[in-house]
Amino acid sequence: MSDVKKETGIGHVETIAVHGGYETDNNSAIVQPIYLSTTFERNGNGEYGDFSYTRANNPNRVTLESKIASIEGGDMAIAFSSGLAAINAIFHSVLKPGDHVVIPDDCYHGTVSLLEKIFDQWSVQYSEADMAGTDIESSIRDNTKLIWIETPSNPLLKITDIRNIVTKAKTRNIIVGCDNTFAPMLQRPLEMGADFVMHSSTKFLCGHSDVLGGAVILNNDNPYTQKIRDYQVTAGSVPSPFDCWLLSRSLSTFPLRMNASCDNAMALAAYLVQHPSIEKVLYPGLTNHHNYQVGLQQMKKPGGVLSVLVKGNKKQALAFASRLKLIKHATSLGGVETLIEHRRSAEGEHPRSPENLLRISAGIEHIDDLIADLEQGLKDSLPLTGVI
Ligand SMILES: *Cc1c(COP(=O)(O)O)cnc(C)c1O
Repeated sequence: MSDVKKETGIGHVETIAVHGGYETDNNSAIVQPIYLSTTFERNGNGEYGDFSYTRANNPNRVTLESKIASIEGGDMAIAFSSGLAAINAIFHSVLKPGDHVVIPDDCYHGTVSLLEKIFDQWSVQYSEADMAGTDIESSIRDNTKLIWIETPSNPLLKITDIRNIVTKAKTRNIIVGCDNTFAPMLQRPLEMGADFVMHSSTKFLCGHSDVLGGAVILNNDNPYTQKIRDYQVTAGSVPSPFDCWLLSRSLSTFPLRMNASCDNAMALAAYLVQHPSIEKVLYPGLTNHHNYQVGLQQMKKPGGVLSVLVKGNKKQALAFASRLKLIKHATSLGGVETLIEHRRSAEGEHPRSPENLLRISAGIEHIDDLIADLEQGLKDSLPLTGVI
């Protein structure tokens, strides 16, 4: 188990993604074996070695955590069985009854549900703020403990100026957490002063839509480090060794996939923005995006997700999604396959998205095939501007 950056001086993300966290084992295996064993033998003196019981730790988890920490530029990653388990670990560690949290007004709906359904019994309050604007102060209260950022946001692709929020939070001793699920490798919130970065590794980090996972990334000087670790081990929402292995394997190609998704997303945005059946394209890579400059400044690329507002209403949006052949209508994002989704009908009890919004997660297929599919799906949808 090693930190590639420290040992070899190779710090490029493409190299870390392949080599991070594992050196050949006693059998010289190039690929790390999967340690399914839940228990590990003590030595002759009855002492444990590095491992004792898999909930406490496991070699595959060590490798995964090392890779994710290096990719995110943090000292440590703590892996969970889902993205929401990772958010829950941060909230549980940081918040006390009566505390107040500021979340973005466009926020992953599961984060809002967590506050509503689980933390309400702790009397934790929350406010929603338009973090893409500059007025965060009006949402801050005396008991605000945490500001939660999500940028780009899901599904409106709003961009929050991370440094701006951090500056305002620090003068008031407020903790800043950032859901970086949409922008791994593209932006590093820890380096911009955030206290916590969180990932749903289910998305781009996994990239194959076949593992559920989450991670919290932080630096060693974070006073909550041990609490988050305790939350992982003692509360027990750990990823299995096989899931850790699958995720580590997926991470080897993550930088290639991320770049390909970003390039496809940009090309899809450029195609859709000029299409007569599309009312609006929401994508941080378009110069008309409200925070285009901030995105340019804090992100290497504008990301692999975009949303479109089709001309018409829910009916037209759903009809368009269902006419697509290559692009599947399904939830989730960050996979090698391009997915489209009508968000409003996936958002449960309190839907927020516009009824004509479709979110597109760009995969890594050939761009010509993706555009051809959109073309045929949109062609049949005309006349969208007429009365339907
Ligand atoms: C999917 C997602 C989550 C939740 O992650 P799970 O792995 O599904 O628990 C959190 N935040 C964002 C932005 C997401 O897209």
